[in-house]
Amino acid sequence: MKISEQDIKKLQGLSAVAAAERLKKCGYNELPSAKKRSIIKIIIEVFCEPMFLLLVACGTLYLILGDVEEALMLLGFVFVIIGITIYQENKTENALAALKDLASPRALVIRDGTEKRIAGKEVVPEDLIIIKEGDRIPADAVMIWGMNLTVDESLLTGESVPVRKNPSTQIDPEITRPGGDDLPFIYSGSLVVQGQGIAKVLNCGLNSEMGKIGKALLGIAEEKTVLQKETGKLVKTVFVVAAVLCLTIICVYGLVKGDWLNGILAGITLAMAMLPEEFPVVLTVFLALGAWRMSKKQVLTRKVAAVETLGAATVLCVDKTGTLTQNKMSIEKIFSKNEFYDIKDSSINSLPETFHELIEYGILASKKDPFDPMEKALHELGRKTLYSTEHLHENWNILTEYPLSGELLSLSHVYKHPETGKYYVSAKGAPEAIFDLCHLNLQVRDDLAVQVNVIASEGLRVLGVAKAKFNKNELPQNQHDFEFEFLGLIGLADPIRESVPQAIKECYNAGIRVVMITGDYPATAQNIARRIGLKNIDRIITGPELAAMNPAELKDKIRVVNIFARVVPEQKLLLVNSLKENGEVVAMTGDGVNDAPALKAAHIGVAMGERGTDVAREASAIVLLNDDFASIVAAVRLGRRIFDNLKKAMAYIISVHVPIAGIALIPVLLGWPIVLYPVHILFLELIIDPACSIVFEQEEEEANAMQRPPRDSGEPLFGKRILLLSVMQGLFSLGVITGVYKIALMLGQTVTEARTLSFATLIISNLCLILSNRSWSRSIISSLFVPNKALKWVMSGALLFLALVIYVPFLQKVFHFATLHSLDIIIAAGAGILSVVWFEIVKIMSVKKHVELLTN
Ligand code: ATP
Repeated sequence: MKISEQDIKKLQGLSAVAAAERLKKCGYNELPSAKKRSIIKIIIEVFCEPMFLLLVACGTLYLILGDVEEALMLLGFVFVIIGITIYQENKTENALAALKDLASPRALVIRDGTEKRIAGKEVVPEDLIIIKEGDRIPADAVMIWGMNLTVDESLLTGESVPVRKNPSTQIDPEITRPGGDDLPFIYSGSLVVQGQGIAKVLNCGLNSEMGKIGKALLGIAEEKTVLQKETGKLVKTVFVVAAVLCLTIICVYGLVKGDWLNGILAGITLAMAMLPEEFPVVLTVFLALGAWRMSKKQVLTRKVAAVETLGAATVLCVDKTGTLTQNKMSIEKIFSKNEFYDIKDSSINSLPETFHELIEYGILASKKDPFDPMEKALHELGRKTLYSTEHLHENWNILTEYPLSGELLSLSHVYKHPETGKYYVSAKGAPEAIFDLCHLNLQVRDDLAVQVNVIASEGLRVLGVAKAKFNKNELPQNQHDFEFEFLGLIGLADPIRESVPQAIKECYNAGIRVVMITGDYPATAQNIARRIGLKNIDRIITGPELAAMNPAELKDKIRVVNIFARVVPEQKLLLVNSLKENGEVVAMTGDGVNDAPALKAAHIGVAMGERGTDVAREASAIVLLNDDFASIVAAVRLGRRIFDNLKKAMAYIISVHVPIAGIALIPVLLGWPIVLYPVHILFLELIIDPACSIVFEQEEEEANAMQRPPRDSGEPLFGKRILLLSVMQGLFSLGVITGVYKIALMLGQTVTEARTLSFATLIISNLCLILSNRSWSRSIISSLFVPNKALKWVMSGALLFLALVIYVPFLQKVFHFATLHSLDIIIAAGAGILSVVWFEIVKIMSVKKHVELLTN
């Protein structure tokens, strides 16, 4: 079935009820992909964790030693650890699953007579889908209307040359396969390279051609990020050091004391104390939850790496229309036959005769039922001012379209008069392109350029309009071969988004440059740039100038020029590469098919969720769900917060492991009674795990997060300064705990009493480390006023459990503890607090001296 353009408006599509019924019957239009990990799988993974294996080894040893209670206690902990891991993993998985849902392809369908954007998986057989350039086709379908449609079916056929589609060819759907020109069938997963069309869905999900060959569409790419690699290396190093130390302990114990079993126990305790298992966990949790937090700010993360790179961005390259402006056009000024006319009043209902033909042909050069806001504005003005004239041609159908191209920024529509059979041609586009089509001489062009500037310098987008008649039978290949006559100029206003000027200010404060790259006219771009507060906008480079420039010259000029106008999408790649060569970390926005290479090349490709094509989305690292520039800035802010928190969490992990490992190691080496057993380490892990993964993840941003320059993209997570400060924090804590232990022993306390006292000191010191590391610029006291829900739970939970293991007789026995008296509690608290005082002083000094501690 093929329909005419005239009938498109009448299409009803399925009703919402019918669609829901079909969805129920046929299921979602999706292919089985990697399912969420099941709980069983997570448990199996936990069983393979080194920490778990160490626990089992410990339990077995205790059984061999005949210590059943201790063995059971360890086993009990195993369940708690499995519980925590499942909770964490579930949170991560849920965050990722929610993102996947958001990232799944969308489809534009006609239902109940209106166009609706729905998730691709909700498309059902018999749905009417509207497809256009850059879309991925959501299901197998047969075209009922189309214009210049070509489709890339290489995913199905392996053939990279796009194929032409033609709705009028009649063929039995049973016998067709992907590939081959001029067929009416389009297939799920293939890409619209050019043109547009409407199609009726035949097969969905597993019944589609794609389903038959069992290929899943590209989902969220999960590749290893720089941080993951860096952390991987660190984990390996710590692992090797820990292994060597453990073996040493076992040998020392075995050879010197001849007590191999206890030697192995001490070795395992040390291994558990040093195991760097938190690093990768923290990274995964932070990146996944970071992506989830971004989605709440209307930013969808397609590549996890973007979460970390965003905070380092030094240049944001943005297109103008739709990102900085609202992409809601209205006509404000027109020019024809040497006269200007201002249409500032929206209630206007007539136009002077001089301008009738200009609007008439403007509308003819637009689609009948347009998506394009400029074309919508033309129709709107026509409806209001020409309804009683002979200038509206509802019953004319577009015979042929000459599309807009990078070489010629204008398009033409050809109509055949229903009665006379004569051809009428209308063109609209960039004024220079229209002058070209009209073959105007230089003098006329120069005169008109003055009028164009008058309109553009008011921040309006300017379109030229022309008309032609054609009497021959065969239409020419090229728009240039018509005899066009110039009709006039149309100035369209596109209001800037309200949030943009503030967001631009934030960028400047944060040391980020903003560069406008637009296809629009230079004077228009400059006016908008001024209104949004862009700096250094006197110099503009245009697309043609860019084309004539050599790379060295561009590399030099791009350091200062902030507006690139009349740029075609293909040139964006040049700009990205040039900025990258200058050492910038580039975020680049884009929406069209031709933007894809630049989006891929940029450090952070940013696609538009509303306007953007599927191709642009697939090439980008993040997608702005609301197309708003301010969302990019919000994402940068969040990126900086996540990176800071990651550093704090990692610093805390390092600092807390030093006293634990130290207090496990020192007594063995110095021949003192042992302080820590595996059960103590497990207790500590129960505080450390949620602290580093949840407390630090939730931490608010540092006050100056958007007041400092972007971090160096090569900056490692553990620079020398951060590493040094973390180890020092750990050493201070270790010093205090060891001191408390030794002095207690010297003062005649029993080993059990001294152990209890030093363990309590260790816990208080650990809690102080958490508090102190929450911010590297605020003191502990001022941090207390910054809310953090998880913190309260971790702190009170830790203190409660500490009280339980010290005062509940059964637990006291398993933990080898004695009862603490009030003086002991004061000593433990005082010593614990003392261990972080020096770092608090360092923080205050650094703020006074404007030294950024959290950078390297
Ligand atoms: P940005 O790149 O900031 O989104 P833009 O929308 O102006 O700006 P393009 O879409 O590349 O960029 O358009 C470039 C120029 O092509 C426009 O300024 C206009 O002159 C012309 N043009 C674009 N779309 C149409 C159209 N539908 N009809 C006529 N001319 C058009």
